[in-house]
Amino acid sequence: MSETYVCPYCEAAVDRDYRVQYVIRSCSECGGHGRFVHSTVTAALDSIPEEERPDGWAAQPLDERLLTAVREGLLNARDTQLRNGC
Ligand SMILES: [Zn+2]
Repeated sequence: MSETYVCPYCEAAVDRDYRVQYVIRSCSECGGHGRFVHSTVTAALDSIPEEERPDGWAAQPLDERLLTAVREGLLNARDTQLRNGC
C-alpha cells in the first residue's frame, strides 16, 4: 500500500511505499525543495481550528506549518506518531 506525500509549496502529491511524517525531496512540479508532508499530517494541519492557528499560518509553506504545529503543541500525538502507527 502506497503512502501519499504533499509538496509544501504547490501541494503536488507523490506516492512512496513507506510511511513517515515527511520526505525531504525536490518537487518535479514547482522545483521547490523541502519536506513533503504525509497526507494524514496534511489533513491534521488543515483541521486545526482557525482560532488556534498562529499568526502568519496561511503564508507559511506546509512544512513550516508542520514544524510550527509540533512546536506549539497543536497536533495531538496520534496525528504525528506515524512511524509507530499503520
Ligand atoms: Zn511543488
